[in-house]
Amino acid sequence: MFRALWYLAILAVLAFIAVWLADQPGTVTLEWRGWRLDTSASLLVVLVALAAVIIAIILQLISFIRRAPETLSRIRHERRRHQGYLALTRGMVAVAAGDVDGATRQAKRADVLLEDPALTMLLSAQAAQLNGDEAAASVHFHKMLDRPETEFLGVRGLLVQALKRGDKDAARGLAERAFRLRPKSDWVAENLFSLQTQAGLWGGAEETLGVAVRRGRMTAEDGRRRRAVLEHQRGIEAAGLNDTDAALKHARMAHKLDVTLAPASVRLARLLTGAGKLGKAARVLETAWTAAPHPDLVEPYYAARDAKAPLDRVKAASRLAKHNPQHDESRIVVAGAALEAKLWGEARKHLEPIATTGTSRRVCLLMAKIEESERGDLQQAHAWMARAAQMEPDPAWVCRQCGNVATDWTVYCGNCHEFDAFAWGRPPHVQALSSFGNETLTALPAMDEPGG
Ligand SMILES: [Zn+2]
Repeated sequence: MFRALWYLAILAVLAFIAVWLADQPGTVTLEWRGWRLDTSASLLVVLVALAAVIIAIILQLISFIRRAPETLSRIRHERRRHQGYLALTRGMVAVAAGDVDGATRQAKRADVLLEDPALTMLLSAQAAQLNGDEAAASVHFHKMLDRPETEFLGVRGLLVQALKRGDKDAARGLAERAFRLRPKSDWVAENLFSLQTQAGLWGGAEETLGVAVRRGRMTAEDGRRRRAVLEHQRGIEAAGLNDTDAALKHARMAHKLDVTLAPASVRLARLLTGAGKLGKAARVLETAWTAAPHPDLVEPYYAARDAKAPLDRVKAASRLAKHNPQHDESRIVVAGAALEAKLWGEARKHLEPIATTGTSRRVCLLMAKIEESERGDLQQAHAWMARAAQMEPDPAWVCRQCGNVATDWTVYCGNCHEFDAFAWGRPPHVQALSSFGNETLTALPAMDEPGG
């Protein structure tokens, strides 16, 4: 619309100029080498304008012809690029679909068409991996290391390969490089931490952990717990090297970082007891008992209180129980000591409130022992034992990852090799026999593949 108006306006102006020129009087005479031209001024102006237009058109034509090869090459290049990206897209789809031939063919095509190795190297590597040719994939990954924009992809590819073939030293070096490039990647941090702890590089693992917490990739609480476990391990190692000062320092740190980590508290208490610092050892265990009562704390506590005789043990048990009086574990520890000291009344006082209402197998077995030892009442003892059989299993160290149950805490799960996987709790199990029939068997929790 505007364009039409614009042309109309130009036309009107031109018509006006033509009329105006035609109205102009006057003639022009040109003489050149015996030639003579007489004409009106207005016609001369029109002729000059016409000549200017013709020259402009000729110049345009020359420039077009001169640029023609360049234009043609650009068009061809654009078409190649377009086809290259198409091959790249098709190749990625083929990789996702597991189409080996398609992926290889498109990777080669994209490589030829696109002069951008950064884009095509990953596809070529993936196509090679799909083809089972890890060596060729490795060559592509190595090439990626040379370019800053593909370095991480190359390192990641090589790291996955190293993990797959179980080459932990190579994997650790690559994980360190990947972590420097992308410290925010959870996958990299997890792998690096795992490889460092497996190699016993506790210091490096602590550094990785620190970065993960600082960058908000892990909660401060989880970070403290993991650091506690690392300090615990460092303490064990120092003790193995007969470095008692370092062993004590690391054990103190582990206990300070997580008082609920019973193995760390037990270790520190034993070290202190061994060094004659009985009061300090007892206080460590009392702190741990307040936070999380655990049966493993009891024997070291007797040692720290130098309680050998049965009555001394009852006294020590009562003292420990005072630090968490409402907890079942406190009742059980006092009752157990009282039973050994043949203080039947004391034992009953602590057990009976939790024996009839509770679900602890240990409590039922203790009650059976009391009935048998105090009164020789075998019938009652058997009743308690039958009840014990129906109870759920008592707490144990259970792997969070695979459900593996262990008697002793270890830094790695013996089954799935997960770091710090053991938590104190009721193990997964088949339902008690009493409910067999209406409830049938409950399954174990789903197991993940080791190394996930
Ligand atoms: Zn496990």
